[in-house]
Amino acid sequence: MNRSPCRLSLDAAALVDNWRRLAAMSGAAACGAAVKADGYGLGAREVVRRLADAGCRDFFVATWAEARALVDTGVSISVLHGVRADDMALARLRNARPVLNTARQIQRWRDAGGGLCDVMVDTGMNRLGVSPADIADGLLEGLRIDTLMSHLASGDEDSPLNEQQRARVVALAGTTEAQRMSLANSAGIALGADYRFDLVRPGIALYGGVPRAELAGMRQVATPEAQVLQRRRVAAGESVGYNATWTAQTDTEVAILNLGYADGYWCGFSGKGAARAGATRLPVLGRVSMDLIAVDCGAADVAEGDWLALDYALPEASAISGMSQYELLTGLGARFDRIWR
Ligand SMILES: *Cc1c(COP(=O)(O)O)cnc(C)c1O
Repeated sequence: MNRSPCRLSLDAAALVDNWRRLAAMSGAAACGAAVKADGYGLGAREVVRRLADAGCRDFFVATWAEARALVDTGVSISVLHGVRADDMALARLRNARPVLNTARQIQRWRDAGGGLCDVMVDTGMNRLGVSPADIADGLLEGLRIDTLMSHLASGDEDSPLNEQQRARVVALAGTTEAQRMSLANSAGIALGADYRFDLVRPGIALYGGVPRAELAGMRQVATPEAQVLQRRRVAAGESVGYNATWTAQTDTEVAILNLGYADGYWCGFSGKGAARAGATRLPVLGRVSMDLIAVDCGAADVAEGDWLALDYALPEASAISGMSQYELLTGLGARFDRIWR
């Protein structure tokens, strides 16, 4: 097998610990998992397998192609973007059901014979979902609904919108045939027991994201590692990388690593990110240069062919790169070998 010169080291125990912590915080509410975007870039199949073993029963993807890729795992999958006409051929997948978002989607589902579904209601985000007024007018009558859900716009902030959205969900209780109600994403879980209803739907925090201070200490799951392709000495006065943004003040030992934009190592890490050789920090020098980065390896014993891990704890990596924690995960590229440990 030809191994890639970059790999994602994935910590299975950290993933499961994060889910268990969120499940414990959620009390009596069931704790699901958002695994859209290929498990936020980590690999949805591997995430699902491990969380299902830990006891997770409700999984959420965005599209039917994502559902199809998971269907043989046997878990229950909700497809958040609902059913377009183009989806109907797939929409009868075993164990998968749509989250219906619009009157047209609901009609399409009814015309195809109905069956168990979820419904998204918009309570103030104005993204996807039917309105509470349409529900009051009978839009959902006769539908077999597992979960009536809504989504928080600002759960990661102390916004008055949170309480407003929560109150609108409470007002829907008992007005439909839905077996369960659900509102909280990762951040919502930390807003308190009133936000948890019957089912919570964390995503980012499972993967080590920290959307609110209360969730500090979620364990890092994904660590990019890259192989050294060349080691060189850069003489004082010489520059490194595209646009020569870094110039050596003294003779400097530099390692060139196989990592760059296509892997999700963004320009924002230029001059700010770092690799590690053991505990020794090796700062990124100059620009990320397309598929390659340079690090100062003078403090470590680094040779061509060695592997170095990159600093990628999400709150810190987000702060230095200017990318959101969501972008940092979902941008992790296809060139990585994804290795679960
Ligand atoms: C993505 C998503 C989630 C998970 O959100 P996080 O902020 O990643 O925890 C939950 N519910 C819905 C509807 C989503 O789209």
